[in-house]
Amino acid sequence: MTKFDLIVIGEGFAGLTCANEAANLGLKVATFEAEFFGGLVVNINDLEGFAEGNGSSGMDFAATLASANSKAGVTSVQEPVTVIQQEQGGFLVQTGRATFSASSVVIASGAHLKKLGIPGETEFEGKGVSHCADCDGPLYNGADVVVIGGGDSAFQAALLLARECATVHVVHDLAQPTARAHFVDSAREQPNIRTWPQSTVEAVRGEQLVTGVRVLSLADNTVNELPCLGVFVYVGLQPNSDIAPLGVGRDTRGFIEVQKNLETSTAGLWAIGQVRTGFSGLLSDATAEARRVAQEVKGRLL
Ligand SMILES: Cc1cc2nc3c(=O)[nH]c(=O)nc-3n(C[C@H](O)[C@H](O)[C@H](O)COP(=O)(O)OP(=O)(O)OC[C@H]3O[C@@H](n4cnc5c(N)ncnc54)[C@H](O)[C@@H]3O)c2cc1C
Repeated sequence: MTKFDLIVIGEGFAGLTCANEAANLGLKVATFEAEFFGGLVVNINDLEGFAEGNGSSGMDFAATLASANSKAGVTSVQEPVTVIQQEQGGFLVQTGRATFSASSVVIASGAHLKKLGIPGETEFEGKGVSHCADCDGPLYNGADVVVIGGGDSAFQAALLLARECATVHVVHDLAQPTARAHFVDSAREQPNIRTWPQSTVEAVRGEQLVTGVRVLSLADNTVNELPCLGVFVYVGLQPNSDIAPLGVGRDTRGFIEVQKNLETSTAGLWAIGQVRTGFSGLLSDATAEARRVAQEVKGRLL
């Protein structure tokens, strides 16, 4: 069994950056990826507030990171990690096919977009219901669409969709959206974005494809049927934290708890980026903390 100094779980921006920094510091490193490198932003064309990306798309920047890792000698394993187990002097990391060993493990397994769990959502997935405005937005040129959610991702998607859709309805259940002010202000300036605060989408309607949604106002209980062809769901993130060993602390929403130095309650096991509690949600922070942890891991090995 090959023994690595560091195994990084997840090839999102946090995992790729951590592995790169560690390899450049001389560590023997492996990364594992369950789906496709790049993680949550792989389909985002305009990375917001990420100066390091220098205007590149999520896919392009992830490819640059992956290629740098390959040159730096990082072993990339395209398999999901299923179990992390502590052993004498380190950890065993299992996939469905093999077991690997490492002195330290960084969990950078991120999160996935939550589902709403309303009628029609699963039935019309790929038939009008989408989680990717960059990928599917062009299908709705000139049409009305609905974005569900009040955070940064929802407003980022609404602004993008407003470039080509007739009307973009943004439905969220709070009095004020939680998205950063510059997103909300930009949306307010768009004549074709209409927001529905304190409202919830109760059902997605359709036949073969989506034809509309039913919106309930939480303020006065009125119901509106909004005709639309596309429904974009951005209602928060669910952490991919199941792989953390049982003793590792998680908050009530399942995000992994870490100490100030980003180490979990298990020595030598770290959690960075979107999978950990208290993460800002910004790529610039994900990459900064990834580098910091790589240096801490290197320090421990000395
Ligand atoms: C729609 C959207 C748009 C965004 N746009 C921006 C933006 O413009 N600017 C910005 O600063 N931030 C943006 N963000 C936030 C940004 O996505 C996060 O800060 C960043 O993706 C966190 O990276 P990560 O590596 O921690 O996690 P992720 O990107 O989630 O990557 C985790 C990776 O781990 C893999 N993985 C999961 N489980 C396993 C397993 N068991 N084994 C192996 N691999 C596993 C996943 O497949 C994934 O590839 C956006 C978020 C969303 C949802």
